[in-house]
Amino acid sequence: MSAFTCGERAPGFVYRGRGPGELHAERVPLARLAQKFGTPLYVYSATAIRERYAAFDAAFGAAPHTVCYSVKANSSLAVLRMLARLGSGFDVVSGGELERVRRAAPKAPGRVVFSGVGKTAGEMDAALKARILLFNVESESELALLAARAGLAKRVAPVALRVNPDVPAETHPYIATGLREHKFGVAMTEAERLYDRARDERRLQVAGVSVHIGSQITAVAPFAAAMERVAGLVRRLRQRGHDIRYVDAGGGLGISYASKGEAEGGRPSSDLDGDFAAWVAAYAQAIVGPLRGLGVHLLLEPGRAIVGPTGALVTRVLYVKRNGNKRFVVVDAAMNDLIRPSLYGAHHEIVPVVRGAADVGTFDVVGPVCETGDFFARDRRLPEPREGDLVALLDAGAYGMPLASNYNTRGRAAEVMVEGSKARLVRRRETVKDLLRVEL
Ligand code: PLP
Repeated sequence: MSAFTCGERAPGFVYRGRGPGELHAERVPLARLAQKFGTPLYVYSATAIRERYAAFDAAFGAAPHTVCYSVKANSSLAVLRMLARLGSGFDVVSGGELERVRRAAPKAPGRVVFSGVGKTAGEMDAALKARILLFNVESESELALLAARAGLAKRVAPVALRVNPDVPAETHPYIATGLREHKFGVAMTEAERLYDRARDERRLQVAGVSVHIGSQITAVAPFAAAMERVAGLVRRLRQRGHDIRYVDAGGGLGISYASKGEAEGGRPSSDLDGDFAAWVAAYAQAIVGPLRGLGVHLLLEPGRAIVGPTGALVTRVLYVKRNGNKRFVVVDAAMNDLIRPSLYGAHHEIVPVVRGAADVGTFDVVGPVCETGDFFARDRRLPEPREGDLVALLDAGAYGMPLASNYNTRGRAAEVMVEGSKARLVRRRETVKDLLRVEL
């Protein structure tokens, strides 16, 4: 049993030791991991992942539900294996992600939902063969192709239509998905006609309604608004004789990336959602409330809320330099390792791995990639780093490594999973040889 319960802080990243302290992942000093595995290095806390999954699952307690962790948030096999052992299902958006789930947990495909606007025939074939739980279909053409592929495979495809509820979600425009002008889902006004069409296909079995309004949503009202519309649709579909058993509420629950100052027990910053259990309980209420009385089985696709705060990217300071009035900290991680600041202007707390009594200064923290957009922070107040120091970018457990690229022919970082005082390399660092191997 771990030493804390759902409502308390995840023990992921904490300063320990004498004096100002050293940043640890659980019981392991990050400096030791950087020494052993090099930098840049992704480090995850297994205990934090488990606890957050358990808290999320518990919030939906009495309502019949399956948590289908959204693989895109962090698709490491180590993470998938761990969640599968806890009973999680999975939300995949490609044949590649389905294959990852199959590798991590051969029995899990029965708990897999397949979302995405551009499923190919090959991906449908693989998912039919794996007998997944639900296809979240996003267009009339996709419905027709799925019926054809199911016919060829002599299988019946369980389907939900992903409807676009036209609900605004206050988040970055690149990750809002639930408005009419977005590419996702089918319009509410079209839904009934498409469900009737699906019923006419012998190889399709209408099973649910699905929705996903965006990611990093930090208020629960948009979820409730979307669910109200979904509940209305479920009622109308049932009146038309459709057997709607599942409502897939998607993912999107946000976390706090902001600094909250130093927390008790030495957590360096951003305790994120503070009391995660309370936050997820409010979310569960927003989802479950509008569906009350419908007797549906809920599917939930959280990604970021489970893994976001459970990972850090550890990087070493290469150079500290001044250009005009600006001071730059050049670290060995770059936008190819963690693209969120460049792509979304996202904030990640940056903290020293070994705390000293340094003065505080204002810096841009940048990587070695040849793009002005390669930055982790701009005009950030930080304890003055020295060349050779280690710093950690917090809350990098979601949409960090899965979005990593080989830009500038940089190998992707290694990944380490920590549990208590044990650390395990779960993905080795890519070498240039690895990158060149696939070129002819
Ligand atoms: N489900 C679908 C269909 C998604 O597109 C996404 C991500 O945007 C998710 C779930 C996971 O979202 P999040 O990580 O914000 O929970």
